[in-house]
Formats: sequence, structure tokens, C-alpha cells
Amino acid sequence: MDVSDEHYEDLAAHLRGVLIRPGDSGYDQNRKVYNGMIDKRPAAIARCRDVADVIRCTRFARNHSLDIAVRGGGHNAAGLSVWDDALVIDLSLMRSTTVSPDEHTVRVDGGCTWGDVDHATVEFGLATPSGFVSSTGVAGLTLGGGVGYLSRRYGLTVDNLLEADVVLADGTFVTASESEHPDLFWALRGGGGNFGIVTSFTFRTNEVGEHGLVIAGPVFYDLDDTGAVMRWYRELLPSLPEELSGWIAMLRVPSGPPFPEELWDRRVCGIVWCYTGPHDVADQALAPIKEFGSPLMVGLAPMPFDAFQSLFNPLLPEGLQWYWRADFFTEITDAAIETHRKYGEQLPTPLSTMHMYPIDGAASRVPQDATAFAYRDGGWAGVIVGVDADPANASQLSEWAKAYWEELHPTSAGGGYINFMMEEGQDRVRAAYRDNYARLTEVKRRYDPDNVFHINQNIRPAGGQT
Ligand SMILES: Cc1cc2nc3c(=O)[nH]c(=O)nc-3n(C[C@H](O)[C@H](O)[C@H](O)COP(=O)(O)OP(=O)(O)OC[C@H]3O[C@@H](n4cnc5c(N)ncnc54)[C@H](O)[C@@H]3O)c2cc1C
Repeated sequence: MDVSDEHYEDLAAHLRGVLIRPGDSGYDQNRKVYNGMIDKRPAAIARCRDVADVIRCTRFARNHSLDIAVRGGGHNAAGLSVWDDALVIDLSLMRSTTVSPDEHTVRVDGGCTWGDVDHATVEFGLATPSGFVSSTGVAGLTLGGGVGYLSRRYGLTVDNLLEADVVLADGTFVTASESEHPDLFWALRGGGGNFGIVTSFTFRTNEVGEHGLVIAGPVFYDLDDTGAVMRWYRELLPSLPEELSGWIAMLRVPSGPPFPEELWDRRVCGIVWCYTGPHDVADQALAPIKEFGSPLMVGLAPMPFDAFQSLFNPLLPEGLQWYWRADFFTEITDAAIETHRKYGEQLPTPLSTMHMYPIDGAASRVPQDATAFAYRDGGWAGVIVGVDADPANASQLSEWAKAYWEELHPTSAGGGYINFMMEEGQDRVRAAYRDNYARLTEVKRRYDPDNVFHINQNIRPAGGQT
């Protein structure tokens, strides 16, 4: 349906935020997302300032039959926070945080990044489990589940979610928690942006390190040691204290300080460790790591948790080309190790990489049906990403990532983490949710029967079109 200039002018006049349309200065800047491969041309971008703006935009889009795309941090793999001809409801100006150190909670606006949250909480020696890069948005990461350094010790991000304020598809506003709209609260914890627009999250915060100081950093091994390292790592991880977590990677060493120049751009197998427990027993916890093998570099050092969380941000500026493929793994098989070795050797560009993030410890003690997030049986969330600044390399990135994924997939648990997926079709969405999928479609029918929120890893309402 065509929406007239007068309609948009009326909407703009009623917002505290800004409405940006094609031809306006800032349109091209604001339609960009983190993944430079995404090039969408929305009908309008509403940079909301408050909940009232979000409600008004939702109602406007529905009244004018416009698609709605919702933007938190804009980091999504598939770029699902912008869409052609849609109204983008952009929360990125809504970024306030409130810590309650006594109650160990933090209330976070829907447009915050994890850097905003870490900044607020680490000052109190506290943190909420998030991811591994602080420029990522709180909203998208949380709604997909949230896997990070603190997941072994304190669970996924969703396991620390206490409450969410949500604008529903009809523009009404509700608070979801264990006691209010419990079905919605269940679905929000892993079901993505399918159920409404979350304008604020309240999380539990947890003690991290010695008043926020952790011991962390990467350890790199020669590519030829990949087999030995992966076999050691898969046996070691379950025996480690939950204060210690480490994700394993195939990567090329970044070409710049603090990495030693002789290692720059070398293909390696690496593990990035983070120890968040008391420092008087840190040596004991870290001993197996320091004693194993012949590492090329051991970069473990004390640092504030928020500094560690933002360590990789400069390596990964906005606008790079990203091509993603993902799966969960309950084991790292010998066949998988051979595949990692093979494709690690072929990493096509300096930033292309493979990561496996542990989902064990506290994250795997939560029952599989307690939240929408369905892969709780121990193991890893794996991701293969081709990354480069040059759009001319886009097909090289995707070909390498697809070939790697095809060969590795038979060793996986079947589905992938929705936050690491491109647009891969309904079968992959179902596989991401396993037995939780049917309940998600029921909650979708109740809260968004017309599938208003469909620009996401879409869960279709039960009884509707499949
Ligand atoms: C460099 C990098 C590192 C990453 N590391 C990790 C990691 O360590 N652990 C991890 O778990 N994930 C990680 N991710 C994946 C990340 O969780 C997803 O990209 C996530 O979608 C980002 O959230 P966002 O708010 O930035 O995304 P956006 O692109 O803004 O949105 C993502 C999806 O959520 C929806 N959405 C956004 N805001 C809202 C809202 N307020 N209410 C309802 N729906 C909303 C959007 O419509 C879209 O479908 C990483 C991503 C990148 C690019």
C-alpha cells in the first residue's frame, strides 16, 4: 500500500525521535547495518526515543500495511534489522541502563549494546552473561539465547533475564516475566524477535573476577597441532572449574599489536580463555592450559572484564562483508577435527574464522524445555564466518564457508544458533528449535497471529501458513 507524504509527516510530528526517509540526509548512513553484505532500502527509518515512539510506529505500520523491521544493535548475521520497503523501528537511540547493586540487577533499554551494559555493571564488579564482542546489541543477542564467556558459570543471557517490557503486534504494551505473560516470557528466551518489540530488559547481574578484574586472553598453536589441541580441549573442558571458559577457533593471527609480528597472518588453532574466579586460585585453575603443548603465544593477562569484552572490537569494525554458517555440536569428533584442519588451512581472508563456543556447565543444567533455546545438552555453538572488507571477495567468503559447513554438518547436533544464521529457510529455523518449535508456534499464534513480526528467523503462527 502506498503511504502518502502527509502520513509520514504526521508520524514524524508525533515522534520524540527522528523519521528518516529516502532522500533525507542520513538515509544511507542509517540503512546500513553491521554486515556490509546487506543493502536494503526501507520506506522509512524511525529512530525512536521512547516506548511511546515504538508504539506509535507499530500502529502506523499496521494501519498502512507496512512491513516492520526492528533494529537493536544492527549486528545480526543476516542483517534482519532492515528490509526493503519496510518501516524500520530503530531503538539504537534508546540506550540507558540502571544498575541496582543491592538487588544484583540491571535494567537495560532495548537499543543498548553489551558495551553499554558492561560499562554500567563492571564498575560494581558485576556482569550479565553476554557474548564475546561488546559492540553487539543486547536485544538481538538476548532474544536468540546469548552465548558468552560467562555461560559456563552463570548460564546463557536468557537464563539471567528476569523481565522484559514488550510492545506487541497490536501496539499494546506488556511486561513479561515468570509471573506475567509466562508463555511470552518463555518464548522471548530464545525465540528471537518473533513476539514483539522489547523496549527494555531486566537482567540478573553476577560477580565477575576480583571486582571485575579477570584473567583472560588467547593462546595460539601451530596449525599442525590442531588435532592434538582439539582432542585435549574436548577432554579438558568438562573438568575445568566453571569460572574458566574458553572457545576454540581456527583463525589467522591479527596483523597488529599486541600480537608478535612474526605471527602476523599465520594460520593457527587458538583458544581464547577467560577466568572469572578468585585470583588466589587462578594459577591452579589455569595450570592445565599453561602446561599443555607448545603454544606459539600465550596471551593470558589480568584485565577488567569490560576491557576484555571490547578487545576484539577494533579488529571488527562495522561494514565488513560477513558470510555465516552455524551448527550446534555435542562432541568434537575425530572426523570434525580433520575438517577443521583442512578448512583452517584454507581460511580465505585474514579475518575469516571458525569459532566453537561452549554451552555447558550452568547453561546445560537448564532443562531443554524451560526456555525456547533448545540446545542444552552440553557442547558448543559453532560458527563459520567468511569476513573481509572488500565486496569483491564476497563469493570467495561464501564458497569457503558453505563448503566447510557442508563437510562439518554431519558431525553436528542438527540445528544451528539462530543468531549465527543467514536466511536459510524454514527447515533450518525448525532445526534450531527442535521439540520447542511447536510450542513457539502456539505462542506466536497467541501474541502475533498475523505474523506482523516476520523479518527475523521466522516462527509462523500455529494453524496458519507453514
Ligand atoms: C562480531 C559479532 C560477534 C558476535 N558474538 C556473539 C556471541 O559471542 N554470542 C552470541 O550469542 N551472539 C553473538 N553474535 C550474534 C548476535 O547475537 C546476533 O548478531 C544478534 O542478532 C545481534 O543483535 P543486535 O541487536 O545487534 O541485532 P539486530 O540486527 O539489531 O537485530 C537482530 C534481530 O533481532 C530483532 N530485534 C532487534 N532488536 C529487537 C528488539 N528490541 N525487540 C525485538 N526484536 C528485536 C531484529 O528484528 C532482528 O531480527 C555476534 C555477532 C557479531 C556480528
